[in-house]
Amino acid sequence: MTIPLTILAVAIPAPLYKTYDYLAPNTSDAASIKIGQRVGVEFGHRRVVGIIVEIKESTDTPIEKLKPVMQHPTDPVIFDATLLGLIRWAATYYCHPLGECLSAATPTLARKNAALPDLESRRWKRTDKEFSGPSNAKHQRQILDFISDSNEGVWQETLKLLKATPKQLAQLEEKGYLSKTDSLAFSISASSSEPAKKVALNSAQQTAYEKLKPLKGFAAALFEGVTGSGKTEVYIKKVADCLQQGEQALILIPEINLSPQTFARFQTQLSTPIALVHSGLSDKEKYRSWLMAKTGLAHVIIGTRSAIFTPFDNLGLIVVDEEHDSSYKQIDGFRYSARDLAVKRAQLERCPVILGTATPSLESLYNANQGHYQHVRLSERAGAGKLPTVQLIDIKSRPLTDGCSPPLLHRMREELAAGNQIIVFQNRRGYAPTLMCSGCGQLLQCEHCDARMTVHSYPPHMHCHHCDYKQAIPTTCEHCQCQEFSPLGAGTERIEAGLIQQFPDIDIIRIDRDTIKNQNALNQALDKIHSGRPAIIVGTQMLSKGHDFHHVTLVAVLDADGLFFSGDFRAIERGAQQLTQVAGRTGRGEKAGQVLVQTRIPEHPLFEHVIAHDYHQCAEIELEDRIQCLLPPHAKMISIRAEAKNQSANIDTLQRLHSALLDALPPENEAQFIGPIEASMARKQGFYRSYLTLINHSSTERAALQRAIPSALQLVKTRGVRISVDVDPHEYI
Ligand code: ADP
Ligand code: ZN
Repeated sequence: MTIPLTILAVAIPAPLYKTYDYLAPNTSDAASIKIGQRVGVEFGHRRVVGIIVEIKESTDTPIEKLKPVMQHPTDPVIFDATLLGLIRWAATYYCHPLGECLSAATPTLARKNAALPDLESRRWKRTDKEFSGPSNAKHQRQILDFISDSNEGVWQETLKLLKATPKQLAQLEEKGYLSKTDSLAFSISASSSEPAKKVALNSAQQTAYEKLKPLKGFAAALFEGVTGSGKTEVYIKKVADCLQQGEQALILIPEINLSPQTFARFQTQLSTPIALVHSGLSDKEKYRSWLMAKTGLAHVIIGTRSAIFTPFDNLGLIVVDEEHDSSYKQIDGFRYSARDLAVKRAQLERCPVILGTATPSLESLYNANQGHYQHVRLSERAGAGKLPTVQLIDIKSRPLTDGCSPPLLHRMREELAAGNQIIVFQNRRGYAPTLMCSGCGQLLQCEHCDARMTVHSYPPHMHCHHCDYKQAIPTTCEHCQCQEFSPLGAGTERIEAGLIQQFPDIDIIRIDRDTIKNQNALNQALDKIHSGRPAIIVGTQMLSKGHDFHHVTLVAVLDADGLFFSGDFRAIERGAQQLTQVAGRTGRGEKAGQVLVQTRIPEHPLFEHVIAHDYHQCAEIELEDRIQCLLPPHAKMISIRAEAKNQSANIDTLQRLHSALLDALPPENEAQFIGPIEASMARKQGFYRSYLTLINHSSTERAALQRAIPSALQLVKTRGVRISVDVDPHEYI
């Protein structure tokens, strides 16, 4: 009798668009081999961790060449069928090698070829049995007394303080004095015993909540509610319903900084085990959250982008908060959109997905207009909050003092005198975005990029925000030998310095990537803000997202024009979103709010919508323009970038790629090709860059491109040229 071979198709984390066949470790173990498991394999001269994606009985590879895999038999299966289905779909859709996609979705701890740790923690409880040990067993008595003081039992870790060894505890258990429970629910994830605090929804929220049905089966909804309209309360109610049905919920948030705030709001109202998933956690903590979601111990997962790959025992709802936020898009490696994958995942899991925001992305608005998504709106603020008034300040011919105009400074003085707080928004960190030679007018460029360097003053240096290159502030111009330079424009550092001079007795709190390097720094800043003392908060978009500040009565936008006007076709959408979001940080408490917007073109029609708080109207007009111009989201875009030490290698490779794609596509395919053309920043980090952009108008056309791209890429492979594919790119050239 011949025993049939068990062949495993394994996806390897390498830039290769195929899987590789291996032998199961031992044919008698076949039952323990499962699709979605990770295995250690020899790949070339390396040992790597791959994922089993298929189990089969035959292979095209000669049997003697097949190598066995190394299995970790006690490991949980990393990808269940639905999650594997999602990632397979994503690999095809984003034209990215499956092995790399799977690796990106694997918990970091599991990417190493070692058995996963046992994260269960043990709790000991005293039984009713009277202690009848020898009278000199003082230590044992001490341990038992300590444990009997606790009704819920004591964690084994805690008993270490009494020098109780696991062996000793096991012996006490054997004699019937102790019983144990093992559980994962320990450390970072809290299961609160506090009674749940319920907030009663107002009637608009209640209507929205009811519209956001059904609870079963797939349904996608765009939930558009102005800032402060109480969307979070509606999410919480939806999550509560989901938990009541014994299902779990996934909440995606755009920014790790928002996780404590979101966690606290959900925790106090739901009192259920909630686990966090974000990059600020250690690998072990992340793995614990992963395991808790998978086993069903955590009922709610709150996480940033990559949390979309969390396994669930029984997922019943996905919420994507601030769905428009660009941080949901991964911009290197496996370039996926967590928002779009959330919709796909909900489809596969047959559960609803809610995309919430005050400023919908045009993609979601388009989907809602097309009837693909339900559209639910909230147009009033909840509770005591009122939408702020918006006024423009024309700064065309006004002198600015470190970015601020005289009327703005005047208003700030009044607000501070009334004991209020102010937000000053400038989406540029550093002291000044440019350094100019006073003699010849040359602007200081980065040595490695076609970009200007930013002046920083803490400590004084020049910094390229594109490649991270730093250098000393020059003393002599290399073009004209002049020794005088002037910084042009104002970043948050300069604004902060200017405000310290204007308002020496007031707290100035700066919130940007240079001052807020960790959660601790943010907490300190937020504590100061929430104390309610008069203060000026200077910050970048970091402070415009999601925060609920109750004492801010004035928001100043120093350079609105910089938000709206750039070469990217998304500039207006992004600018309007940022302006609306930052304006939304005021008027959230009892006090009314005002927004002052500095601009050199106050007559621009865009500002009419901003003043009227009508992001929606602005977005509809912009969407109409995109449809007319055959741009996303109406048409779909795939951008392919080549990077090399010289531009001609890029252009040549992309031209060959263009031909290879034309050869592979059916003749009726009318996808448009733009380029190859040089990137607007042609050189970055020492590499030249060019793009080939593909525009397509139907899902069939796009699917044909997605099928053709991987093999075309293999055909045109060129030494020294790096190619990357971005499907639905967020940055246009
Ligand atoms: P959004 O998520 O839409 O920006 P939030 O849920 O953060 O809005 O709510 C804004 C503020 O209004 C919060 O301070 C919140 O506590 C309060 N709030 C929300 N709903 C209600 C309600 N029904 N009654 C009273 N206050 C509410
Ligand atoms: Zn640079």
